[in-house]
Amino acid sequence: MGGKQLDIATRLVHAGERQVPAAVPVATPIYASVTYTYGSMAEVDKVFGGEIPGYVYSRYANPTLTALENAVHALEGGFAASAFGSGMAALHAALLACDLAPGVTVLASQDLYGATIGLLNTVFTSFNVNTIMTDYSDLGELAQKAREAKPRILIAETISNPLLKVCDLSCCAEIAHAVGARLIVDNTFATPYLCRPLELGADIVVHSATKYMGGHGDVMGGIVVAREEPQHNALRSIMKLAGGIMSPYDAHEILRGLKTLALRVERQCTNARAIAENLTKDGRVVRVHYPALATGDARRKLERTLRPNYAGAMVAIELANNTREGAFRFMDALRLVVRSTSLGDVFTSALHPATASHRDVAPARRRALGITDGLVRLSIGIEHVDDILADLHQALEASAAA
Ligand code: PLP
Repeated sequence: MGGKQLDIATRLVHAGERQVPAAVPVATPIYASVTYTYGSMAEVDKVFGGEIPGYVYSRYANPTLTALENAVHALEGGFAASAFGSGMAALHAALLACDLAPGVTVLASQDLYGATIGLLNTVFTSFNVNTIMTDYSDLGELAQKAREAKPRILIAETISNPLLKVCDLSCCAEIAHAVGARLIVDNTFATPYLCRPLELGADIVVHSATKYMGGHGDVMGGIVVAREEPQHNALRSIMKLAGGIMSPYDAHEILRGLKTLALRVERQCTNARAIAENLTKDGRVVRVHYPALATGDARRKLERTLRPNYAGAMVAIELANNTREGAFRFMDALRLVVRSTSLGDVFTSALHPATASHRDVAPARRRALGITDGLVRLSIGIEHVDDILADLHQALEASAAA
């Protein structure tokens, strides 16, 4: 607009905006813009119609999210990735994208994260979706149940919570496909650094990016990667219509987190193995759950599923005085290890499954699953291993002495 200078009120609104940088920024900016403008309505029309690529509205897609989605796609493979506002939003969308509908059966691992079980048993049950829980470590039983129940979806976690059983994903994919079902894998505990479920035959992989991908306990997010285009298109449609998309601020944090994922996870796994091995020799602990300690069939599953020599960074311990009071004393005595309900952060944290992640599971069911009152789950961080061990030892002593 030439001629008369614009009023200050107008200049305040428009001055400096909508500049296209002359050079490519080396780090992806946070695109906080909700909408996007084009040179002509003809161009807008083509973008809306999908004839040319572009952004129209940030509930559909956003350049910062695209950068994160492309990064996770490059790690997991498959057709494409979609970034949601939390791991639960991602799981909700993944289930819907696999044609979940009234009358459909989901054959779910009994060791799934509590909220995933809750999603199936409350939200989806009210839409007449039937969920059957089974033990995914018994592949014979899983195949039998799949033949009988004719599920549309099988859903498992690469490494289960809190007992850290590694799932044989290749076998599960074969079992799913033999009955025409799709396999959804929650790969949160393993990360793409330790396991790539799509390469093992899974149809959809989900992450709570709140955990290892973010890695610093300061951001929430979820990612879904679909192996095929129809499921990806369904995910984009759910994202657009249900609105569970990630914020660009969070996408920026998670993209930054990914850059150090290998460094963090390598260190966390090395620390976790040393801690697990040390605690197996400690009389104040009756049992240590850590995938690398497994033998026999469980060992073979680990070798078929995870990166060689890496068994994750989660360790669960059962205290010798197997009571809730003993576990609370242990946790209260921790000075360095943080009492926290999350996992996968740079700092070591501890959680009491019976009163946290599995609080809503009936006590008898909890015991049947092997989640005792004296079980404590540790998420091992990147601190020096000697400092973590010293803290655990003094807390074990405080718990045992009382
Ligand atoms: N999947 C697993 C294995 C989890 O542990 C969690 C959260 O703890 C979730 C999914 C849900 O993720 P979010 O808390 O980001 O919704």
